[in-house]
Amino acid sequence: MKDTIVLYPNIGRGHLISMVELGKLIQTHHPSFSITILILTPPTPINTILSCDSTTQYINTISSTTPSITFHHIPPTPLPSTPSFPPHLLSFEISLYSTQNVAVSLQSLAKSSNLKALIMDFLNFSDPQTITRNLNIPTYFYYTSGASTLSILLKFPTLYKAVGKSFQDLHLDLHYPGLPVFNTDDFPNEANDPENNSFPVLLKIAETMNAGVGIIVNTFEAIEERAIKALNEEETTPPLYCIGPVIAAPYGEEDKGCLTWLDSQPSQSVVLLCFGSLGRFSKAQVKEIAIGLEKSEQRFLWVLRTELDPVDSEEKPGLDELLPEGFLERTKEKGLVVSEWAPQAKILSHDSVGGFVTHCGWNSVLEAICEGVPMVAWPLYAEQRMNRVIMVREMKVALELKEGKDGFVSGTELEERVRELMESGTGKEIRQRIFKMKICAAEAMAEGGSSCLAIDKLALLFCGNKVTQESEA
Ligand code: UDP
Repeated sequence: MKDTIVLYPNIGRGHLISMVELGKLIQTHHPSFSITILILTPPTPINTILSCDSTTQYINTISSTTPSITFHHIPPTPLPSTPSFPPHLLSFEISLYSTQNVAVSLQSLAKSSNLKALIMDFLNFSDPQTITRNLNIPTYFYYTSGASTLSILLKFPTLYKAVGKSFQDLHLDLHYPGLPVFNTDDFPNEANDPENNSFPVLLKIAETMNAGVGIIVNTFEAIEERAIKALNEEETTPPLYCIGPVIAAPYGEEDKGCLTWLDSQPSQSVVLLCFGSLGRFSKAQVKEIAIGLEKSEQRFLWVLRTELDPVDSEEKPGLDELLPEGFLERTKEKGLVVSEWAPQAKILSHDSVGGFVTHCGWNSVLEAICEGVPMVAWPLYAEQRMNRVIMVREMKVALELKEGKDGFVSGTELEERVRELMESGTGKEIRQRIFKMKICAAEAMAEGGSSCLAIDKLALLFCGNKVTQESEA
């Protein structure tokens, strides 16, 4: 029977891709392990919200290009008719209701393979002991964001106990070792409201991770050195394995003409605007972005989702309807607007791209770092406001975009930040800094680099070996 590591990713596409890359990484370092990835099947109509068609396409591509990775599909479980969570957290519900099916699948896998460890996405809201039952295998968590936000998440239960009420409207500054000053306003919306269904889930996730055998983090020392050191010094934190940057490898997505268009643009002249798998705006906000971009006079490539915010809106207007009259015609020499989806990582690696307006999703941040592309930070959901603090104040690789109280960003603000990024001395400094980080990222992953060593250490643990000082060296 083959030694097998089972990976249990979250249903979100970014999380799945990151987990697949983690599997590839483990196998590259230790080809003797076989990798099995558990895939949850969301029931309809949720599969549409979660863009499951493109996920299926992705899984099919990986299955044919990387046959050493096996996908094991977990049968769908019916959910309550009204979801308890917002779309980006539906995975809580799906994973919670799938716990029994996952446990049954693991028991059956254990009959044909020698299971060595389970690596579970931290957002999968399932009790590891229930899942692994009597299999006697360790469960590691995979934290798909950075060490700084992990640090805050792990402290969240203690903080809540100390404050004893919602953080909403407290505007509390938090001074934690190894981190810049965070304000409770930077927390995800769900974390600021104990009445929100997601709040107890976040508390539970933090408690479960704190009690775990280890947390694998998609980061590397050069970008979050202080946070990693502080976490390692905290006695209550389980061992950390910083194995990043793990980013998506291109897998043959359609590029919708983006790359050919970029080929015709000057080096480092284009600003990419792309807002993750769930970033949506109101009609008014889309118009304001267009006004700001036009006034900035910069070249741009804008990936625009035409589903509007709020997400339950039925409306899905065409680009012409969404954008100001004549915008596409007036900007056709300088700009390209692509609807719904474009291969972001490939675009970032193109020499013509010189800046990136991002929603601060961690995968996007790492992709920009790996390509040395400076950013304007426009957080939208999840832990992205906290990522912005790190990007702007700690790593200093991004400019902060200031939004109004309701999250609305004016065209003028966007125009000024994009111009500043592309034309000012500050923009130049950020570019130089992120370029150095690009080199550090490659060094971390290369033989002898910090992330490479962390993977080796994990592999030893998976084999049941003790990590000695010699093997750590
Ligand atoms: N992405 C992409 N094209 C798009 C939007 C997103 O390729 O139009 C990819 C992006 O490169 C990243 C992932 O989807 O790998 C998004 O992950 P991230 O953590 O940045 O944000 P999330 O979608 O999880 O909020």
